[in-house]
Amino acid sequence: MNNVNEPTTTFKRFTIDTNEGDYTFDGTQLGFGTSRRGSHLHPPYVTTPPPGVRCSGCRWTETTIYWSSSDSKYIVHIVGRSIVPGEQNRYRTIWADEADDVLDSLLISPPRHVNAPPGTLELPQPNAHALEEAAERDAEIAEVLKSWNDDN
Ligand SMILES: [Zn+2]
Repeated sequence: MNNVNEPTTTFKRFTIDTNEGDYTFDGTQLGFGTSRRGSHLHPPYVTTPPPGVRCSGCRWTETTIYWSSSDSKYIVHIVGRSIVPGEQNRYRTIWADEADDVLDSLLISPPRHVNAPPGTLELPQPNAHALEEAAERDAEIAEVLKSWNDDN
């Protein structure tokens, strides 16, 4: 990582939830994105979305990109949050050496109902938002984002 010249970039201590328990590191938050909506796609007294309803007031993704100076690596932290009774948050934590690996960790195969050619990868909205924010603070991520945008 280079060119951390953003005046608001501050190094501090973070503790994140992972599947293996808490992980604490010193670093800086580069970008954040969420798919959460404030409202629900169903009546408020329904605590579980009806079958086939993808309600992002009930289940959503929070994606955060950090630079960890403790690890000298980027950390991509993706949390699948759920407030549906009986469901738990799901965590993915990726330690990435290069900005390229940060992008790779944010790409997903499109859902099956999307008629995409095999091998197609897409950058879902919360991940794209986190990456765009990170690109404003990190020159290497900015370069990777630019070439992704040029190719897609
Ligand atoms: Zn809902």
